[in-house]
Amino acid sequence: MSRSAPSPSDFVADRASQPLIAVADPCVHCGFCLPTCASYRVLGTEMDSPRGRIHALKAIAAGELELDATVASHFDTCLGCFACVTACPSGVRYDQLIEATRPQLNAPELRSPWQRQLRRLLLALLPYPQRLRALLAPLRAYAGTPLQELARRTGLTRLFGAELEAMERLLPALTAETFAADPEGVVPAQGPRRARVGLVLGCVQRLFDPAVNAATLQVLTANGVEVVLPKGQGCCGAVTHHQGELDQTRRLARDLVQAFTAATADHPLDAIVVAASGCGHTLKQYPELLQGEQNFGIPVKDVQEFLAELGLSEAFRARLHPLPLPDGQAASSARPLRLAYHDACHMIHGQGLRDQPRQLLRAIPHVELLEAVEAGVCCGSAGIYNLVQPAEAAELGRIKAADLSGTGADLAVSANIGCSLQIREHLASTPRPIPVAHPMELLARAAATPGTAEGRAPA
Ligand code: SF4
Ligand code: SF4
Repeated sequence: MSRSAPSPSDFVADRASQPLIAVADPCVHCGFCLPTCASYRVLGTEMDSPRGRIHALKAIAAGELELDATVASHFDTCLGCFACVTACPSGVRYDQLIEATRPQLNAPELRSPWQRQLRRLLLALLPYPQRLRALLAPLRAYAGTPLQELARRTGLTRLFGAELEAMERLLPALTAETFAADPEGVVPAQGPRRARVGLVLGCVQRLFDPAVNAATLQVLTANGVEVVLPKGQGCCGAVTHHQGELDQTRRLARDLVQAFTAATADHPLDAIVVAASGCGHTLKQYPELLQGEQNFGIPVKDVQEFLAELGLSEAFRARLHPLPLPDGQAASSARPLRLAYHDACHMIHGQGLRDQPRQLLRAIPHVELLEAVEAGVCCGSAGIYNLVQPAEAAELGRIKAADLSGTGADLAVSANIGCSLQIREHLASTPRPIPVAHPMELLARAAATPGTAEGRAPA
C-alpha cells in the first residue's frame, strides 16, 4: 500500500482525516496557547496562531474551506515547536494535527516554484553528510574568514535573496573535523563499564559542530559508558520528518536502524543516545513512523536524559573543576560562571525534558544558571524553517538572542544544533555577544585538565 501524501482535496474528503479532526475537538478557543506561539508572536494574526490553524483544519474537514496556497501559507508559518501543546489546558495535541497536515502542504500547487525547488534542494542535501561535505569543501576558504566578513559588510550576500542570505549567515567556520571521516567502531568505557550505548551523530551536527559529538564521547566514556558508532550511519530523518516528507523519512529511519542493528548484533545496547534534541524527538517517533517494521528495540534517550538517569560517576564528579570566566580567571563562589540555558523546543515541548540538562550543568563547580524571560518560546530555527521562512525566523532569532544576552550570562547553553547555529548568529548582533556551547562541551571542559585543548575557555 502506498503511503504517499494524499492531495488537499483527498484531505477534505478522506474519512481517515476524521479521527484527526477529533484531536482538535477539545479546543475551546480559550487562546491560552497564543502568548507561547512563536509564529503568532511575530505575525500577530489569528490564522498564524494554533487556535486559528485548528479552526482552519476543522473548516477544511467540514468542506467549508479549501486548502489552497493562501491557507497553506498559514500552516507553513508554524514552526512545529509544540509550545502550544505544553500551554493548552484542554490537552489539544496540536503536534499530531500539524504533523498530519504537513504532508498535505507538499502538494505542488500549494507553494511557489522557488519554494518547491529550495525545499527539494535542502532535503536532497542536509540529510546526506557526504553530499553536504562535497558542497561545503569549496566554502572552506570563505566561511569564518575575512572574505565572509567583507561579503556581509558590502551587502554582497543580500544579492542572492533572503533564503540564500539566511543560509550564508548560518554557515559556521569550517574546520578540518568537518571533513574528517565519521568516528566509527567501539569506544570503551573508562573504568568499570556501567552501560553500553549507540551514539547517533546527527547529519548537520557532525559537520557544523563536530566538537559536540567529540565532547559527548568524552563525557560518556569518562562516566563508564561504552559507545558504539556504527560504520556509515546516516541521518535520522528529523529534517525530512519536520517537513512532512514521510517516505524519505522512513527510508532514512530504516537505514539508520539497519546500521545500528548490524553493528550491535553480538553486543546488545542499553540505549540509543543522541546529543541533538531535534534528532532525539524524531528517533523517539520511530515506532509510529515505521509502524511495526524493525526498530531499535531499545530506548532512545537524549544524552542529558540518559546521563541524568544513570548519574554522573563519582570518578567523573571528582574530575570536575571550575570553568574559566570571560577574563580567564577560574569561576569561584564569589564570581560564578553564569549560564543561560536555552530550552530547545524539541527537548522541552517535544520530549518533556527540562530539568536534566540543568541538573548536569549544576554538577560543574561554581556555575550559576540564569533563566531567560521567554525560555519556552522558539528561537526560530525549527528544522529548515530559518531557511524557508527567513524573515519570521530572523525576528524570532533576534528576540531569543536579546533574551539570552539580557540575562547577564557569560555563556548561552544549547543542546540542539539548529538552535545553536541560529542563536550564535543572532547573539553576534547583540550589544553583549556571548558564546554558545553544548552542555556536553562544558562537562568535557570541566573534566579536562586546565590548559589542555578540552579545558580551554569557550571561544
Ligand atoms: S489549543 Fe488549547 S490553549 Fe489553544 S485555544 Fe484551543 S483549547 Fe485554548
Ligand atoms: S507549534 Fe509552535 S509555531 Fe506552531 S502553532 Fe504551536 S506554538 Fe505556534
